[in-house]
Amino acid sequence: MRKILVVGAGQAGLQLALGLQSRGYEVTVMSQRTPDEIRHGRVTSTQVMFDRALQHERDAGLHCWEDKAPVIEGLGVSVAAADPATGTAPDFPARAVDWLGSLRGFAQSVDQRVKMAGWMELFAARGGQLVIHGAAVSDLDFFAGRYDLVLVAAGKGELVSMFARDGARSPYDRPQRALSVAYVHGLLPRTDAPDVEAVRCNLVPGVGELFVIPCLTVSGRCDILFWEGLPGGPLDVFQGVNDPGEHLSLVLELMERHVPWEYARAVRVELTDGQSTLAGRYAPTVRHPVGWLPGGGAALGVADVVVANDPVTGQGSNSASKCAACYLEAIVERGDLPFDEAWMRRTFDRYWAQARHVTRWTNTMLAPPPAHVRTLLGAGMRHQPVADRIANGFDDPADFEDFFYEPEAAERYLASVAGGAAPE
Ligand SMILES: Cc1cc2nc3c(=O)[nH]c(=O)nc-3n(C[C@H](O)[C@H](O)[C@H](O)COP(=O)(O)OP(=O)(O)OC[C@H]3O[C@@H](n4cnc5c(N)ncnc54)[C@H](O)[C@@H]3O)c2cc1C
Repeated sequence: MRKILVVGAGQAGLQLALGLQSRGYEVTVMSQRTPDEIRHGRVTSTQVMFDRALQHERDAGLHCWEDKAPVIEGLGVSVAAADPATGTAPDFPARAVDWLGSLRGFAQSVDQRVKMAGWMELFAARGGQLVIHGAAVSDLDFFAGRYDLVLVAAGKGELVSMFARDGARSPYDRPQRALSVAYVHGLLPRTDAPDVEAVRCNLVPGVGELFVIPCLTVSGRCDILFWEGLPGGPLDVFQGVNDPGEHLSLVLELMERHVPWEYARAVRVELTDGQSTLAGRYAPTVRHPVGWLPGGGAALGVADVVVANDPVTGQGSNSASKCAACYLEAIVERGDLPFDEAWMRRTFDRYWAQARHVTRWTNTMLAPPPAHVRTLLGAGMRHQPVADRIANGFDDPADFEDFFYEPEAAERYLASVAGGAAPE
């Protein structure tokens, strides 16, 4: 059977490795860390995944935590009222927009520490070869001749240097948000919809965004408080904060000042564990899919290696799942033919047909929203179908092409929803 090397034990690498394994391929996974190191290590993401991405896991029988993780049925958007003169929300703002959309299929967030450790153990228990080693380019050069295909699924780590940046598809050359994450127990439900588990997206004009995400972590159910701050702005204060307690205090202080309606829920929270905070930033980048090794071998980049979007739209794990499913199909279809450069490029193009929608939407959301997007968001308060459609766009970002980017398309859509009446 054909031999495949997967470098990186994340959402994409493990989903792909387990999928190939179940089809009889001889798969080796290289991981920097053991399952226990991952399980007891630092949180890595907020990893909320929507229906289509979860379906790939269900199709592969990998939905191991579905009955334990919170079932997220809604996605809400709140926008803090901005000062018309500056376009920036003042301290202690009111809400100009506030709605809750219904997801057609539920979403879930399973702490990657839980999921990746579990999937690695499953892969090994099924006879897969797990090599604990942080691979360098020289290792891949050595292994390239021994495998039919080398897949680099190592996230945003150093191996991305093998893959050239695609400038035409990467409008930003520096981080657009400073990220800060805290996993907490004890968050109270929103009083406006206490019985609905929902992702809450809070947009604070000129400042950043706070996402609140129900999640399953190592110690059970929790909520994640995830700030995305404009670089240099009031939320960009987490660099160098190493004490988790201090990190949480800062998260809460910023919530009280910028999203007081969410702070009201957080008065009694505590961190889930000593590794439950994270801070960082990275530049959203699309790369060319084929990486060349010094000895002339080629490797195919997977998921974040080739398309790393900012997490402002919560898409990276979703995209990793979709990329893994797409590559799996292409590998199986290839049969015994060589995995040559042309096949690698075609395989990536198949994935890019989906990923381009995510990249376009995400990069749009990083910029200040134009008037028609503000109108669309506001319309969600008066028209439930608008709220629902935007919420379900997180599951299928291609849908935004039809109504979100062009003022005329947005106007047409709103007019149709309002039964022909001009939108307010
Ligand atoms: C703060 C934050 C919040 C996020 N929130 C969401 C969200 O809500 N929803 C969502 O869908 N996405 C979210 N994302 C994005 C998502 O986490 C990633 O896009 C997704 O995990 C990418 O999966 P991947 O398999 O490509 O890479 P990764 O998950 O990064 O996995 C790569 C693996 O490879 C390993 N590795 C790296 N280098 C080497 C090496 N040289 N040798 C061996 N192993 C190596 C790494 O240790 C890691 O285990 C978020 C990201 C961040 C940073």
